[in-house]
Amino acid sequence: MNGTNPGQELRNFLKELYPHNYNNTDFNEVKFFISEIDSALIANGEFSKIVYESSINYMLRRFINTAEYLKRKYESDEFPAQKFVEELRRFITEATCIPKDKTEKLLALLQACLQSKGRKVKPPRKKRLLKEYQAKNELRCYICGKYLNEQESEIEHIWPRTMGGATEDFNLKISCSICNDKKQHYIDASDFHYEQICLVSDKSDENFSKEMKKEYRIAVWAKSDYSCTVCGEPASIVGTLNFGRINPDDSWHFLNTEAYCDEHTPE
Ligand SMILES: [Zn+2]
Ligand SMILES: [Zn+2]
Repeated sequence: MNGTNPGQELRNFLKELYPHNYNNTDFNEVKFFISEIDSALIANGEFSKIVYESSINYMLRRFINTAEYLKRKYESDEFPAQKFVEELRRFITEATCIPKDKTEKLLALLQACLQSKGRKVKPPRKKRLLKEYQAKNELRCYICGKYLNEQESEIEHIWPRTMGGATEDFNLKISCSICNDKKQHYIDASDFHYEQICLVSDKSDENFSKEMKKEYRIAVWAKSDYSCTVCGEPASIVGTLNFGRINPDDSWHFLNTEAYCDEHTPE
């Protein structure tokens, strides 16, 4: 896989500015409360990590959407050509505390993200991609592993287009319309409502499949990039991934649930 998504680059940039360092003992108050919850749940840093990831995604979304808002407002004939860029620069320098020497880099990344946002997959490209997958007998949803026919197939941006995902082959996969619809513009597992994924039923209960909603399934699959946690084989090759628990005595909650191929499913 070659190439980069502007949105991904923006997130890396934010991470460089705000590195996650939960092993640091010199916490300020915010870091302290997250690590307190983490230790209270004996999450070994996993909870702290997911809160961090979703906070960075929140920042990313705020920046991209504010840039889009300003673009719509100021990129018209009414205003001089550079008005939008000036307003975006003003927003970064006056409405945020991003270090001053990073302003131009952030500005450039945001503009690249907005360009990606406007690039959709055109019908001839969709046709070509579907043909390629069909020729390899791999016309399957990369999320749920279901075999598809051409009518059921959607082209999915792995990194969402609205969040600066490129419309280039490295960022495109086939999905079914249900997964496409449920994944929406989520970037990764931390973007889903992981805090809500905490089932009260067990796998043997008839309520399990009802309680394990499609969004929850996609969120757990997303944790390991839609691949088996053990062998790394993707759902697009081995089919629908099953669920298993890290600690079988604990409930089916987000941090305790992983995706496995048939061969590696525990219990
Ligand atoms: Zn699917
Ligand atoms: Zn496996």
